[in-house]
Amino acid sequence: MDDNIFEKLRILSDAAKYDVSCVSSGVERKNNSVGGVGNSSAAGICHSWSTDGRCISLLKILLSNDCIYDCKYCLNKVTNPTKRATFTPEEVAELTIQFYRRNYIEGLFLSSAVVKSPDHTMENIYRVLELLRYKYNFWGYVHVKVIPGANSLLIQKTGMLADRVSVNIELPTKESLQILAPQKKVANILQPMSLIHNEISRTIEDKNYFKNVQRFVPGGQSTQMIIGATSDSDKTILNVSQNLYDKFRMKRVFFSAYIPVMSSPNLPAVSTMPPLLREHRLYQADWLMRFYYFNSEELFTEIEPNLDLEFDPKMMYALRHLDRFPIEINKASYEELLRVPGLGVTSAQRIIRERKNAELSYDSLKKIRTVLKRAKYFITVKGKYYGNVKLEPDAIKDEIRMKEVQKQISIFELL
Ligand code: SF4
Repeated sequence: MDDNIFEKLRILSDAAKYDVSCVSSGVERKNNSVGGVGNSSAAGICHSWSTDGRCISLLKILLSNDCIYDCKYCLNKVTNPTKRATFTPEEVAELTIQFYRRNYIEGLFLSSAVVKSPDHTMENIYRVLELLRYKYNFWGYVHVKVIPGANSLLIQKTGMLADRVSVNIELPTKESLQILAPQKKVANILQPMSLIHNEISRTIEDKNYFKNVQRFVPGGQSTQMIIGATSDSDKTILNVSQNLYDKFRMKRVFFSAYIPVMSSPNLPAVSTMPPLLREHRLYQADWLMRFYYFNSEELFTEIEPNLDLEFDPKMMYALRHLDRFPIEINKASYEELLRVPGLGVTSAQRIIRERKNAELSYDSLKKIRTVLKRAKYFITVKGKYYGNVKLEPDAIKDEIRMKEVQKQISIFELL
């Protein structure tokens, strides 16, 4: 690799590390071509994760960091005197293939700053895909960024060749965008999301009638929101996420704890720690919305617009709605079981299945590997309550805290 390309790779892979929306699951693109290389299905797109949780199995780079925008939180903003680099589409395609053949990567995650204009940037991203798919016959996983404000036709063409795309919303409100990313407009972000959603639906529908229809972004679309750069509450963030899931069938909304790299009166001080626990709670809440039939509104109260940092969102929901508990394990519906803290999808399914054979006892729950450590405060089994404390929020919280302390002491004693 020549020094120039190596230097670009160093700059542009480093600049890409702040983008977390790069999971590669849920894709089954098959390589049907003769002599083609790469197969996202066969390879399984197994991605590994770096210690800070970022995906590292893909070649994750920016096409360019030479941005014309001035988002206050970003190292690549036009007013920041950072070193700039731009790949040509040919260079990115060539690098991907070289890395793939050396077995370093299984696919590509390509994002970009806005170079010259949204259309110019989108066109170059499309060109990378075109080269990979048609010149190199590469049918491995490719996730690309859609640039808000780019021409719809370009986005359509890109989506026909990509496995997954993402349009980053970055901040949850118009006001926050106005303060921190004034060149970004809500309409320019929502419009491509809507277009992508419609195209996905259209090709799924067409597939019912025509066997050979090529699917538009078979891995769906995702987006990313920065957490903690503004004063937006968790409730605002999750309400927006809920809307994106409902309206555009978004595959994932990723949350990225803001890492203070830039100084600005509108941003947290550079010495502020990234809100990683908050990010973790948001992911837990997001999980509840996607797999446990929770609505974002249910996770908050009028006076508590942020998730609790001590207890997880499902526990807090249960503690706030103790009038709905305890539920009888032998009678509760699947949806009710899912609302019990400590019971996951697998446990709830197992309970439903096993109780068809015989009424479940506390011991039989343990035998079918139900974790009751937290669940016991919110259930009855054959009418009996096993919580050992009064069914009230403070009593349950104190009991859980005490158990945690005991656990920690016993761990120390083992050392
Ligand atoms: S558009 Fe904004 S966030 Fe994206 S690279 Fe440019 S300055 Fe950074």
